[in-house]
Amino acid sequence: MLTYIVLLGPPGAGKGTQSKVLETKLELPHISTGDIFRENIKNGTPLGTLANAYISKGNLVPDDVTLAMLRERFLLPDCKNGAVLDGFPRTPTQADELEVLLHSFGGQVNLVLFITAPVETLIERLAGRWTCKAQGHIFHEDFNQPRLKGVCDIDGSELYQRDDDKAETVLNRIEIYQNQTAPLIQYYQERGLLIEINGIASIEDVSTQVMSVLHMASSSSHG
Ligand code: ADP
Ligand code: ADP
Repeated sequence: MLTYIVLLGPPGAGKGTQSKVLETKLELPHISTGDIFRENIKNGTPLGTLANAYISKGNLVPDDVTLAMLRERFLLPDCKNGAVLDGFPRTPTQADELEVLLHSFGGQVNLVLFITAPVETLIERLAGRWTCKAQGHIFHEDFNQPRLKGVCDIDGSELYQRDDDKAETVLNRIEIYQNQTAPLIQYYQERGLLIEINGIASIEDVSTQVMSVLHMASSSSHG
């Protein structure tokens, strides 16, 4: 069966962190549009150059560019059973197009996990976020420390602080989220797909909430 789970929430809520847990537990690929853009920026591709002009200011990359990239990603064989979508969709247009795209594969969005946290928490988390260069694994200098400072526990690559996690860019990203992405809360509520997760608890406690929601959702879909 095809399963598509969307992680929705403001920057710093914990979408990436929980997506990595889901990826392992559900054996579905974690697709982060932010990670794919960063990979393109690192490799100096034309897409990376274009996307960087938006990302560096904390603005959204235009929908048509993001959608074209996602369509290509879905064609890779690891998506045969579905995916965990992190940071996509981010606008109602992206959500509409996602519906059409998944329909063409015979799938649909099955569940939207909406992770919430207050603005002070988001700022604190983004200010201390360290990201792995190779695969985007996520750490925090206080809340999720790597065993060895500056080194990814999982693949040994170097950890870095994202340029767009600087304080001034973060405030713009939160505002953009409120204006352009938050309408998706109602969008998915109306479709009966949205479940709210309290993101203020520890990483482990948030994962426990996520797993119990999945458990409930899968038992209700089986009868
Ligand atoms: P998002 O993908 O929503 O932007 P991340 O998963 O990258 O958020 O998390 C942002 C930062 O906060 C990271 O440094 C991560 O280690 C940390 N973090 C994530 N979830 C929690 C949590 N529940 N408690 C404390 N810190 C967290
Ligand atoms: P975070 O984990 O903090 O929410 P992401 O890694 O998801 O951040 O995204 C980083 C940046 O990449 C965004 O601020 C935006 O510029 C761009 N981006 C990521 N996903 C999308 C998307 N679906 N649509 C448009 N821009 C996107």
